[in-house]
Amino acid sequence: MLKDKHNRIHDYLRISITDNCNFRCTYCMPDEKITFLKKQFLMSPDEIFQLSKTFVGLGVNKIRLTGGEPLVRKDFGEIISRLSLLPVKIGISTNGLLLDRYLDDIKKADISSINISLDTLNPEKFKNITQRNNFRQVWDNILLCIKENIHVKVNMVVIKGVNDEEIADFVSLTKTLPIHVRLIEFMPFDQNNWNQEKVYSNKAALEKISEQFPLFKLKDGKSDTDKKFGIFGHTGTISFISTLTDSFCSTCNRMRITADGKMKNCLF
Ligand code: SAM
Ligand code: SF4
Repeated sequence: MLKDKHNRIHDYLRISITDNCNFRCTYCMPDEKITFLKKQFLMSPDEIFQLSKTFVGLGVNKIRLTGGEPLVRKDFGEIISRLSLLPVKIGISTNGLLLDRYLDDIKKADISSINISLDTLNPEKFKNITQRNNFRQVWDNILLCIKENIHVKVNMVVIKGVNDEEIADFVSLTKTLPIHVRLIEFMPFDQNNWNQEKVYSNKAALEKISEQFPLFKLKDGKSDTDKKFGIFGHTGTISFISTLTDSFCSTCNRMRITADGKMKNCLF
């Protein structure tokens, strides 16, 4: 078991399998001219498997593949096929664009829940945020996952003046769709045009949603970073990830590995 000096047990590993991405979200990596790691510096499927095996042996029970955009790796199918041999729950965080291409591999690897980023339901705004014109493909892939009984968590980064007006529309999606919508506070990264005025706090979002929807609190897991709510009469659920306004460091159970195999204990 991996226990740190604050007595936190670390049983959740996030592996970035590439730093590359096919989108250029303005809040994440807006620059078109980024130099990404050369292929020979990325962990190979076998290195990812061997590292994961070691961590699983040390008590890790959940591994999430992330990036960059994990699905841009041509060997993504091989990576999840190998990981599926381990006694560990596998999750994926993706922008959703290439999900249809890997659906069979995902099903074969027994991955039953996927986090998909989507910040707007307006195709024009989607183009402004991601700098790519792919709203339709992402939306269709969300519906495809639902059809295939894969549980979809939609990650929405709420930015004041950009998409905060759509919060109620995202909550309304849960009326008929069995999805879980997570509202994430806008975090500052290097060169992501962050400023305090653009932050839409989860507290404000919760107040706004409560005016319109009958919410009830759901139970959160011990190390969950989100606070979950149900809505009377809705099939899906929502939650809030207060990365900025409410630190969850004391219950953090995560470890991270970068695409070139370096260990990071904390995103910050
Ligand atoms: N490309 C994948 C995706 O978009 O889901 C996985 C990597 S992405 C960095 C992981 C998550 O971080 C996404 O849900 C994304 O919306 C979120 N994210 C990126 N930049 C952020 C920021 N500045 N503030 C809050 N969340 C952010
Ligand atoms: Fe790419 Fe995900 Fe960052 Fe958007 S949030 S630029 S999809 S890594």
